[in-house]
Amino acid sequence: MKELTQENYYQDKEYLSYSRMKQFLKCPARALAVEGGAWIESRDETPLLLGNYVHSYFESQEAHEAFLKENGDKLISKAGKTKGQLKKEFLIGDSMIASLKDDPSFNRLYHGSSTENVEKEMIVYGEIEGVPFKGKLDSVNLTQGYFADLKTMKSIYDMEWNAELRRKVPTAVNNILGFGYHSQLAIYRDLLKQMTGDEFRPIIVAVSKEEVPDKEVIRIDEEWLEEGLEEVKETIKEVWDVIQRKVEPIACGHCDYCRSQKKLNSIVTLNNLIGD
Ligand SMILES: [Zn+2]
Repeated sequence: MKELTQENYYQDKEYLSYSRMKQFLKCPARALAVEGGAWIESRDETPLLLGNYVHSYFESQEAHEAFLKENGDKLISKAGKTKGQLKKEFLIGDSMIASLKDDPSFNRLYHGSSTENVEKEMIVYGEIEGVPFKGKLDSVNLTQGYFADLKTMKSIYDMEWNAELRRKVPTAVNNILGFGYHSQLAIYRDLLKQMTGDEFRPIIVAVSKEEVPDKEVIRIDEEWLEEGLEEVKETIKEVWDVIQRKVEPIACGHCDYCRSQKKLNSIVTLNNLIGD
C-alpha cells in the first residue's frame, strides 16, 4: 500500500475517501465525468471555505495563516461600504471561533492537555472490505483514545422534518445522518484500529452558523456507528468497481451532468411522475 503524507494526500487517487465515495453514490456517471475532467463542477465554495476558515484556526496558527494567505482574496469584500473587510458570510466564522476558543471543555477535548499526545489533521488509511480507504481526522487524542471532528452546521436545535424517521428532529440529526457523518466516523474508527490496534471513541464537536453560534459535543451511539459502517460496506465494492472501470457507471438521470446529456426520447405520464 502506498504511504500517504500531508503532501500527497489530496492528489492521491489510489485510495477511496468518504467524500469521493459519496459523489459516486449520488451519481456514478457524473463522478466519473468529474474525475476524468469531462464535467466541471459548479458549486458555491462558501460553505467549504467557511468550514476551512474555522478548522484551520483550531488546527494551528500556521495552518490558519496559510489558509488566509491562500484564500484571503475570496474572503475579503471587494466593493461597497465593507470593501477591504471580511465578507459577511465569513464574519460568522469569527463568531464561531470566538464561541469555542475560550470554552475550557472544548479546549480540553480538542487540544488535550500538555502531557497528552494529540495529533491534528491525522491521516488514516487501510482497507474497508478490501478497498483501499483513507481519511483525515481533525484531532486525535492518542493518549485518551478518542478523536474529535469539528462540524459546522446551520443550526443544532432548530426542529426540521426528517422523512425517514417521519418526525421532526433537531437540525443536527439531519446534518449528521444526511451527510453520513455516522458512516464517516465509523470508517475512521475502523481505520484507526487497523493502524494502532486500539479502539477509539468518535466525537463530533458541532458549532452552528447562527448569528449567535450554538455548540454541542455529540457522541454517536454505537448502534448508529454500526449501521453507518454496514451501509458503507454494502456499497463500497460497487463504487470501487466503477472507479476501476470494471463496470459501467449508472447515470442518476437527474443531476446537472445527466441533464446536460439528456435527449428526449419518451413520454412520461403524470402517474409516472407521482410514483417517482
Ligand atoms: Zn446524474
